[in-house]
Formats: sequence, C-alpha cells, structure tokens
Amino acid sequence: MATLREVLEANVREGELHEKLDDKRIRCFACGHCCPIPDGRPGVCQVRFNRGGKLYVPFGYVGGVQCDPIEKKPFFHAYPGALAYSFGMLGCDLHCAYCQNWVTSQALRDPAAVSPPLRVSPEELVREAVEQGAKVIVSTYNEPLITSEWAVAVFKEARAAGLITGFVSNGNGTPQVLEYLRPWVDLYKVDLKSFDDRRYRRLGGRIQPILDTIRRLYQMGFWVEIVTLLVPGFNDSEEELKRLTEFLASVSPDIPWHVTAFHKDYKMTDCDNTTARDLVRASAIGKEAGLRYIYAGNLPGQVGDLENTLCPNCSALVIERYGYLISNYRLTPDGSCPSCGTKIPGRWDASFRGQIASRPYLPRRRRRLSDYSWLLSVE
Ligand code: SF4
Repeated sequence: MATLREVLEANVREGELHEKLDDKRIRCFACGHCCPIPDGRPGVCQVRFNRGGKLYVPFGYVGGVQCDPIEKKPFFHAYPGALAYSFGMLGCDLHCAYCQNWVTSQALRDPAAVSPPLRVSPEELVREAVEQGAKVIVSTYNEPLITSEWAVAVFKEARAAGLITGFVSNGNGTPQVLEYLRPWVDLYKVDLKSFDDRRYRRLGGRIQPILDTIRRLYQMGFWVEIVTLLVPGFNDSEEELKRLTEFLASVSPDIPWHVTAFHKDYKMTDCDNTTARDLVRASAIGKEAGLRYIYAGNLPGQVGDLENTLCPNCSALVIERYGYLISNYRLTPDGSCPSCGTKIPGRWDASFRGQIASRPYLPRRRRRLSDYSWLLSVE
C-alpha cells in the first residue's frame, strides 16, 4: 500500500512560481517562506518539492469539497447569500496548534491527520459547482497559496463558466504569487492570527510577509476581508488588538474585520473558549481604531448588532444576519445605504437573490463525475 507522501508525489505537475539557484537548487515563491529547496527535498509545506532541479507542485486532486454559504468563509461584503463551492488540497506552510482544518492542513506532518485525496480535474470541479448552484468557488481548507498553480487552473475554468473566485488564506504571500493570482482571484480573505512576531514564529511563520501581503492585496484591487480568531490568553490583549486594528485601519478603514470565537481544537485545549463578551470587547477596540465594518463571529444571536452591516454614516440597518442566514437585506441596487445613500464598499449584486443554504452541506452528486474517485487507500 502506498504512503500518503507517495500518493501526493505522484499527483503533481511542474510548478511556475520559482527561480533556479545554483547546484540544482530552486527557490519557491508560492509563500512567504521563499524556501531554497535542494534537489530531492520538499519545502517547509512538504507538498512542493525539487526533483532533478525542477519544482513539482500538487495537481489533480482535492482533499475535500463542501458547499458553504459565502458568509461561512467569511465574506460579508461579497454577494450576500451566495453559495460558495469550496475545495481544498492537503498541506500547509504553518502548523497552528489550534487549526480547525488540521485533518487536511497537517496531512504530511501529523500521522493522525488522515484525509484520503480524491482525483478530479478542474473541469469536473467547476461542473459540480455549477450544478450545485454556486456563484462563487473558493480554494480553502488547506493553505491555498501553496497550491496556487492548481487554484489558477480551476479558476480559469470557473471564470469561463461565469463564477466568482476566492482564496481563504493565512496571507503568508509574496509579490510574485500575488501577481500570479491577480488575474484569476476576485475575493481574498486573510486570517490575521496575531500582531506579535514571536507568536507567529510559534505557528511556523513571520508576521511581516503577512502584513505586506494584506497591504499589497488591497492596493492590487482584490476584495479583502480579514479574520482574527480571538484566542483567550493568546492574542486577545488590549495592546495587541489595538495595534492589529490600527494596522488594518491604516490600510483602509473600509476593510471588514471579523473577530471570531475560538473553541478548543487540535492541540490547543488549554485556553478557554471565547465568550460573547470577549468578542464585544475586541470589536470596541477595532471601532476605536477607526474600522467601519466589524463583525463578531461563531456565536450567533449573542453579539447584538455585531452580526449585521450598519451604515457607518447614519447607523441604519443595511444587512441583517443570524449566523450565516441573511434575515433582512436592504442594500440598494447600486450598493448604498437605503436611508442616507452612503456607498457601502463591497462586491454586490443588484439585488438579493436568496440563499440556497445557510448551512454547509456536502454536494449531492447528480451526475457521476467520470473519474472522481478515491486516489487509493493510504497507509
Ligand atoms: S509553498 Fe512556501 S513552504 Fe512550500 S516550498 Fe514554497 S516557499 Fe516553501
């Protein structure tokens, strides 16, 4: 029986995001690690590797697919109510102890993370997304930057089918990967986990490439939303939240900031779960920093107006939500407040088209995909 590593090494193609160094070494630009990879070795993410002086990258499989309301990604200022067909591969460039997708992200690092891959083509993924009624297709679950070549192949098909495309990412990017993605990615969510470089190093990264990426994404015209999972005792001090939200406001006060509740997961079980009060406190810090659109997530019905979009000028209710459910939609066709006409930044349809689902579900396959199959049983 093949190991997972052997299976993944067989489902690759030559990568594009790299430069050649001396002695058959390669530097990969897909994420902020910019690994110099010697011949015969993988990068930090374990899924991109150098064989004979050529970079090979994951291609032709998914670690999982799911139909999500776009509010789950979360995007609150992009096509409210839309169905986001979500897919991921395996592996990550970070190793967060509280990862909520660890079964896919840590597949080659943690023997307990077992998620057998499914073989699929870009055309088949897009066909299924369209059959499910998706408006948006999103690369998520593992870190999409490290599988950017696959995402672009899928998104080229998706664009041809009229879909909007998105990344749900830790933001550990490079100028090269953002230039590569810009023609094909519309929406970009960054998980800004902390504002402390020492803490980022505990997760396996550095903060500076992530801050640079957020600024660059905004300047390049991606639609950007930011999430911070609030972990009590890890990243929730007043001082850290103040610096984090002041940074975001310096990029643009119009960037939506989602501050979401942590629950004990994976290897981080010694921190308390986040309370609604914690979220409200963090939101107040963000508001003081100048952010105009702040959302408290994961505790529906417990955070007052912090699930809703309010006009920053007159405080009128513009979009009302309960969890992922859109319960009232009052945005005008040109994306403005219905009371005072203030433009609300975002990517909006001319009208609300209802929701196919306000909860995630696994796709019901109406048509058998020709070779959509388990790649094999892995050890
Ligand atoms: S994606 Fe990042 S971690 Fe993986 S090889 Fe490239 S630079 Fe290294």
